[in-house]
Amino acid sequence: MSKDEKKTEGQKLQDALSYKKKNYFEEADDAERKEMFDYAEGYMAFLDQSKTEREACAYAVSAAKAKGFTEYKLGDKVKKGDKKYFVNRDKSIVVFRIGSEDLEKDGYRIIASHIDAPRVDIKQNPLYEDSGMCFLKTHYYGGIKKYQWTAIPLALHGVVMLADGAKKEIRVGDKEGDPVFYINDLLPHLGRDQMGKPAGKVIEGEQLNVVVGGLPYRDKELNNKIKLTVLKILNERYGMCEEDFLSAELSAVPAFGARDVGFDRALIGAYGHDDRVCSYPALTAVLDNDSRHTVLAMLVDKEEIGSEGTTGIQCKAYEDLMEEIALSLGADPRRVRAASKCLSSDVTAAYDSNFSEVFEKMNAAMISCGTCMCKFTGGGGKSGSSDASAEFVGEIRKIFAENGVVWQTAELGRVDVGGGGTVAKFVAKLNIDTVDLGVPVISMHAPYELISKADLYSNYKAFIAFMK
Ligand code: MN
Ligand code: MN
Repeated sequence: MSKDEKKTEGQKLQDALSYKKKNYFEEADDAERKEMFDYAEGYMAFLDQSKTEREACAYAVSAAKAKGFTEYKLGDKVKKGDKKYFVNRDKSIVVFRIGSEDLEKDGYRIIASHIDAPRVDIKQNPLYEDSGMCFLKTHYYGGIKKYQWTAIPLALHGVVMLADGAKKEIRVGDKEGDPVFYINDLLPHLGRDQMGKPAGKVIEGEQLNVVVGGLPYRDKELNNKIKLTVLKILNERYGMCEEDFLSAELSAVPAFGARDVGFDRALIGAYGHDDRVCSYPALTAVLDNDSRHTVLAMLVDKEEIGSEGTTGIQCKAYEDLMEEIALSLGADPRRVRAASKCLSSDVTAAYDSNFSEVFEKMNAAMISCGTCMCKFTGGGGKSGSSDASAEFVGEIRKIFAENGVVWQTAELGRVDVGGGGTVAKFVAKLNIDTVDLGVPVISMHAPYELISKADLYSNYKAFIAFMK
């Protein structure tokens, strides 16, 4: 007798009627587990090359070129079958394929994710020397717990625009043999007062100064000799002088690379899973898979500070792009938008038994249970959320079921505990059905975040199903 035949009527009825989340590792056979692990390798290589939005954008450009995609500039014409990418100011990119379906009836299939991540940005007049060390002053970017960024190895990434208009790229700290940079913390022996402070005050914003030197320039007549040594090196290497910091975008990011976590290597630790763990599947889904639909992978900037500016998703450039594609194919952009569908692909908080008090377990994202849909985000009372309709959620659910996607739904934490937002509401505003879907993350916004290889791969499979 098989297991099922031994079941009572009640057990069978319960199986038929009840909902239970599934662990994707458990659901997957050995071949699929191997696919998960293999896919993770490519993702981790992408992470190590892409610690800023500029680097992620550059990675996407070369990956797109390698797959035969060509650059689209605003004003260009497109035709069915085209494979294109549109770069916005080197910080965001839309990779797209023109499908065979009638665009006015079928609309776009959009996967929108972001490639900026929380970090510590260098100020515009940052360099000073004090008591044997040279520092860069900073202003952090995005929602960070400031104390987490001290006493870890940091790398400096970014660009400097020199006085003559030349653009210099800086990237120091990740390569084998590179020096790293450092933010100081206080020793516990003198930390009694510090340890009594609320965590938000343990390290204050103006204490996030990055150590960049300690070697005095040999000249008895000078003050600020260490600063001069640093300036001399910057000048020799990048042709810059102190004033060039004024027109620079430099960021301190964690120097460590992505690594397998655990004896069984089921998890990945890395800087910037939020939101590259959605951007990479979005990019690879569109690059690697043909579709009858017109599909767009949007990898945008500035999500962590409100999606503002010329590279955030609120910028008209993306709307213009969609309008131009429509017009180029003889379709009415308004009708195309109304027929479009979007997965706003961003991470969510994974349930963590160490902090169970902030979660409501029935509606929390469980690690390894697949990519996670948030019907709505926002704070108490769903405020600030676009809240997808039951009809649209039903449509996506059907697509996932037909394609064997292991997935789950969740809210970000207990009601009234906190909240968060994504790009979903900005896309929804364009009259495009949109719902959030992304990977659950442990320790989100920390310098080293944790995700599951099962959830990464589920996200990729979900995107392919959505595009099919
Ligand atoms: Mn995010
Ligand atoms: Mn975030």
